[in-house]
Order: sequence, then structure tokens, then C-alpha cells
Amino acid sequence: MSYCVNCGVELEASLKECPLCHTPVINLKEVGKEFPPSPYPENKGQVEEVKRKDLGILLSVVLIATGGTCLLLNLLVFDRSLWSLQVIGICICLFVFTFPLVYYRKMPPSLSLLADGAAVAVYLYMIAYLTPSTVWFWQLGLPIVALFFLCLEIFVFLLRKIPLTMLSGALCLFVEIPLFCVSLELLIRNMLADYTMRLSWSAVVLTVCAIIDVALVTILVKKRLRNEVRRRLHF
Ligand SMILES: [Zn+2]
Repeated sequence: MSYCVNCGVELEASLKECPLCHTPVINLKEVGKEFPPSPYPENKGQVEEVKRKDLGILLSVVLIATGGTCLLLNLLVFDRSLWSLQVIGICICLFVFTFPLVYYRKMPPSLSLLADGAAVAVYLYMIAYLTPSTVWFWQLGLPIVALFFLCLEIFVFLLRKIPLTMLSGALCLFVEIPLFCVSLELLIRNMLADYTMRLSWSAVVLTVCAIIDVALVTILVKKRLRNEVRRRLHF
């Protein structure tokens, strides 16, 4: 029975190095002797990864088949309303969302976000088309989607241009969240024809985020505090 000289773990006779710390095994009594064959297979029996191209083909076929069959079912059997538009909308969204992951990895994130936003907007419009009035889409749905993806675009832009740390990333997020909430409340008030432009729930979000922002800015400006936070939170 031998043990690793470095970490003391018990070693199987066929091992050429310690499995834990990778220290080479040299048994002076057995120098020159052959190592017995390893009881474990040499090759790792892993299943081959599915190629991205094949995955892309599978995904496209499934999405087109889903949309197509639902459209046929809609036109030929359940033809009271154009309900299949909703399914087709979801298929389009899934295709656009997975496009940069499956089909085109080099797509710039800003462009893929723009495409995602457009897909969601098209989907919402398809739903609006099925409802008696599309007013909610133009006054609330579309602006909210545009606002949400604009916030995401800004965040991703900052993430790429300035190497954001955990703290500055959090600061960025806590500036964007209240801006989004305030705009959302104003949009809802506008939709309800309430033009007083007074804030209620979003003012609470704004206040809480402002407190967090002040704390974050203080931490970021004071180097000693910043290092202390980094050390304690391990980043
Ligand atoms: Zn060891």
C-alpha cells in the first residue's frame, strides 16, 4: 500500500500520479518495475455533443411544423377566429430568441436584442389583432416593449464599453429600474386618460432605488470601503 507524499491520500498500485494533487508516484522499492495496468478504461465514454447545425435544423423543423399545422387546423377545422396567430407568434419569438445561440454566434448582442424586441412587439400585435381594439397595443404594449429593450440595450452597451464590476453593474441596474417604473406608471396614467402626471407606486420604487444608489456610489468612490466589500463578498 502506498500513499501520496504530498497530500497523504491512499494510492492504488497502478496509479502513475496522485488523483488528488497530481504529484507523480515514485516508489523507490519498485523503480524499474512496470506499473500494473490501470483498472479503469483509458477513454472517457462520453456521448458526442450534438452539432449546432443539426440542432438548428431540428429547431427550425419543429417550429415550422408547429406553426404550419396549427395554421392548417385553424383554417380547416376550428375556423371561428385566427387563434393560430398566437402560436405562430410564439414560434417566431422562439426562433428569434435562439437565433444567436443556435444559428449565428457572432451576432452582435445589440442587434440580437433589437431583433428580440421586434419579435415580442410583432407577437403582441398579433394578440392585439385578435382583440376588439388595438388601442392598448399602441398606447401601452408597444411603448413598454420598446422601453424594456431600450433599458436592456443600454445595460449591454455599458457592459461591453466599460468593463463593469459587480458594484458598477448593480449601480447601473438600480438607475434603470426606477426609470423604467416611472415611465411605466406615466404610460398607464396616459392610457387611463389621467393627465395629472402624479406618481404613486413608482415613487416608492424610485425612493428605494435612490437610497441603494447613494450607498453604491459611496462604496464605489471610497476605495477603502470598496476593497472591504470586495473582500467580504469575494468578488
Ligand atoms: Zn496527492
